[in-house]
Amino acid sequence: MTTATVVGAGIAGLTVAVGLHRAGWSVQVLEQEQTVRASGTAVLLQRTAVNGLESLGLGPGIDARAIPLTGLQLRTRGGLPISPSRPPSGAVLIERADLAGLLRDSLPEPALVLGHPLVAGDLASACADAALVVGADGVHSTLRGALFGRAYRATATGTTVWRGTAEVTTAGLTEYWGQRRRFGISGRPSGGTNWYATATATVPPARRMSGQEESEELQRLFGHWDGAVAATVASIGEGSVLRHDIHHLARRLPRYQLGNVALIGDAAHAMTPDLGRGANEAILDALSLVGNLEAHDRVDRALAAYDRSRRRVTQLTAAASLAVHTLIHCAPGQTIPTTPGDHARPRSDA
Ligand SMILES: Cc1cc2nc3c(=O)[nH]c(=O)nc-3n(C[C@H](O)[C@H](O)[C@H](O)COP(=O)(O)OP(=O)(O)OC[C@H]3O[C@@H](n4cnc5c(N)ncnc54)[C@H](O)[C@@H]3O)c2cc1C
Repeated sequence: MTTATVVGAGIAGLTVAVGLHRAGWSVQVLEQEQTVRASGTAVLLQRTAVNGLESLGLGPGIDARAIPLTGLQLRTRGGLPISPSRPPSGAVLIERADLAGLLRDSLPEPALVLGHPLVAGDLASACADAALVVGADGVHSTLRGALFGRAYRATATGTTVWRGTAEVTTAGLTEYWGQRRRFGISGRPSGGTNWYATATATVPPARRMSGQEESEELQRLFGHWDGAVAATVASIGEGSVLRHDIHHLARRLPRYQLGNVALIGDAAHAMTPDLGRGANEAILDALSLVGNLEAHDRVDRALAAYDRSRRRVTQLTAAASLAVHTLIHCAPGQTIPTTPGDHARPRSDA
């Protein structure tokens, strides 16, 4: 049996592990956390990603836990429609924890090694011990740094995202755009509302705010917007808000594979969340990698074919996502920072 080590048990790592396991590989997934982390709320999956998950036998689980996306609309902060309501055909919303659980439950228990970070110094021995190493270790990927260097570290865009759930009723997904701010609400598979908001970062990344401070900040930024936004913000419970600064991979990787290591998901192409494509592309990367390993008798040829099929399309998607991010969050003449680091702010070309 051929062996693979997958680094990271996020959506990318779990999907590739399930695919490799079904293809007859012996897989070990190294995850630095003590649990399979699935922080965040619902994730929007497009038809192609759902088809891919169905090909791994997850169809019944997805049908039981996801809800179809019934509408998708852009509005001004005051509620005027910017776009007609046109949901992408076959798209669904599923809680991240449910998706992670479905994937994890499709793996044999010993495959998952929790509380085991792979450090850069261990990469050479991991590559010697397994026929394939998959770097699925997310936006701040250790494997990307080890293979391509510090110039390919993630960059802070200078914007913050808040996420949470609220006990108000919503159908479909509506995004409200204001000046350098955005608020999105969508239905949840388990009822209620899944919400997210983005704005220019106002506090340093390391600063922790209390639940009350987070709620007050959201009230200040969005409490006077359209009624649906104001009602959602008013019902946000203290301690239920997730906040982090958005990072992306500003410099495109020259390749997604080196030796017997392949990078997938955010490790390969961390993008801003504006198009809701990161998890979708992670799933498609995983399936492409597995498909190419099945189609080629040599790992190096399979990885080269994977790189050819996925690099261009994902880098274009990342560029499109960044363009939307810039449109929403930058004043005319400003651009999103491209230098790796944590303290970036949108800057002026002038
Ligand atoms: C606000 C927001 C909303 C989004 N909404 C959507 C959406 O609707 N649709 C969509 O498609 N995408 C969406 N995305 C993007 C999506 O969440 C990510 O692209 C996706 O989760 C990336 O999955 P991943 O497995 O590559 O990385 P991650 O989910 O980050 O997983 C990486 C895993 O690797 C582990 N790890 C890291 N380093 C090591 C190490 N050295 N050793 C071992 N383990 C390690 C981590 O603990 C983690 O478990 C959104 C993102 C944000 C921020």
